[in-house]
Amino acid sequence: MIDRLREPPPTAGLALSWRDFLPGPPSLERKIADFIGVPEVQIECSGTAALVVALLTLKNMSRRRSVVISAYTCPWVALAVVQCGLTPVVCDSRKNHFELCLESLAAVCTNDTLAVIPTHLAGRVAQLDAVTSIARSVGAYLVEDAAQSFGALHAAHPVGTLGDIGFYSLGVGKGLTIYAGGVLVARDEKMRESLRRTSAQFVRASFAREVKRIVELVGYYLLYRPFGMGLAFGIPLRRHLTKGRLIEAVGDDCALPVTLHRVGTWRRTVGAHAFTRFPDYVLSTRMQAEGRIARLGTIPGVTVITDTPENQGVWPFLLVLMPSQKSRDAALASLWRQGLGVGRLFIHALADYQYLAGYFAGAHTPNATDFAERLLIVTNTVWLREKDFIKTCAVLAEQASNA
Ligand SMILES: *Cc1c(COP(=O)(O)O)cnc(C)c1O
Repeated sequence: MIDRLREPPPTAGLALSWRDFLPGPPSLERKIADFIGVPEVQIECSGTAALVVALLTLKNMSRRRSVVISAYTCPWVALAVVQCGLTPVVCDSRKNHFELCLESLAAVCTNDTLAVIPTHLAGRVAQLDAVTSIARSVGAYLVEDAAQSFGALHAAHPVGTLGDIGFYSLGVGKGLTIYAGGVLVARDEKMRESLRRTSAQFVRASFAREVKRIVELVGYYLLYRPFGMGLAFGIPLRRHLTKGRLIEAVGDDCALPVTLHRVGTWRRTVGAHAFTRFPDYVLSTRMQAEGRIARLGTIPGVTVITDTPENQGVWPFLLVLMPSQKSRDAALASLWRQGLGVGRLFIHALADYQYLAGYFAGAHTPNATDFAERLLIVTNTVWLREKDFIKTCAVLAEQASNA
């Protein structure tokens, strides 16, 4: 029986308080910049929009026209590249992981490679040293996709500040949120100046779009709580699953164009207020994740993707690899509809989406395809009750042993 009144959200987001809507300075940029230790950051209307601004900036600095992206990542990344008039090239993942495979990376990088975009997926910290040296060796820029990993650290340095440009998403479901937003980061002042210029050139205010986002943000405030998610998330999810629409179920149904508009001061104020709770949110979700990873780690055949010791990621949800596609599908058949916070991340490797296939003809990314076929995710919201998590563990153990 589904407890429809207490359905956990699929990722741990930072809930809003009514006090966040009170007046205050729109100091979101200042707070984020201080938090990650850079002089300033730039706010755009989504993570994808931030990536578009980044790529248009780099395009203007070079004649190179291809961009290397992870074979298993958010489909918006591929569309952002296309929108900029650049050519997306997928690099396969290494086995049993989302990180770039170094041999594959060396093979797809050429003297036309404008940028390489590794992803810090699911709050995890991707290893960038070898990736950076391969990108550098062909003269490409490194753009870090830290959309899901704001707050994560590599050897005490915030991810997003390690490459030439980095971006975070402030979208719904990604931790700190203003319903839709993105943050652009660059260490180099000249690069920051170029990013500002690109934004001034291409991004306009849109009253209608901003009003829509404000309404959505208020909706998020009202429904992002244990007693609202059944309505806002569970009912549409189960409708999609019943009809077999997996891509719609996880919100992978992306389409051009990527819209660009200014983020208003009111939403920045809401974000600045909410930000004061962000460090606590990171700590409590980290503590919960540690306990739950330990438990999942005792199940034979089940792998949880974690960080190496020098890295400290953030924990919106857990990446769980099952031993086979069959066991993953069997586990989801009994868990996905149950309101236990278990589901899938991106349904396919990029080249396997029908609507992207035209951009990746001839791409061969078997590791990414295998990863997509064996992956499931478990929410790390602090509203997920221990007894529900234990139910999930029992199903995973049973299916993994059948594999
Ligand atoms: C969500 C996401 C994006 C895009 O961010 P939006 O704010 O949704 O536009 C890019 N990359 C990854 C890995 C993401 O998860």
